[in-house]
Amino acid sequence: MDDCIFCKIIKKNIPAKIIYEDEILLAFNDINPKANVHFLIIPKDHIISMLDLDKDKHHDLIANIMLMGVKLAITNGLHRGYKTHINTGINGDQEVPHLHVHIYGNK
Ligand code: AMP
Repeated sequence: MDDCIFCKIIKKNIPAKIIYEDEILLAFNDINPKANVHFLIIPKDHIISMLDLDKDKHHDLIANIMLMGVKLAITNGLHRGYKTHINTGINGDQEVPHLHVHIYGNK
C-alpha cells in the first residue's frame, strides 16, 4: 500500500532499525519505545489488522509472528520475560493500519 508507513519500511523507503527480516516477516524497533527493548513484528503483506485475518489462510503467518517474537525477545535480552500487545481496529486504539505485534520489556 503506497500510503502505509509500515509498507514504506518494508520497501526501505523510510528508515527503521530492522532487527529481523525474511520472506514473510519484518521486525524493527519501535520509534517511541515503552521499555528499553520494544520492537514490532509485521507481515510483509499489507493486512490491516487482526480483524482481517482468515483462520485457515493466516494460521501459519500468525504462528510464525508469535514464535519469531519469542526468539527475537530472547536474542534481544528479554529471556526473563516481556509483554506482547496487539492493538486492533478503531476501538482497539490501533494507530497504524498495518497489522503489528508489539513486544517490549526491560532487560
Ligand atoms: P499501534 O498502532 O497503536 O499499535 O502502535 C503503532 C506503533 O508504531 C507505535 O508504538 C509507534 O511508536 C510505532 N511507529 C509509528 N511509526 C513508526 C516508525 N516509522 N518506525 C517505528 N515505529 C513506528
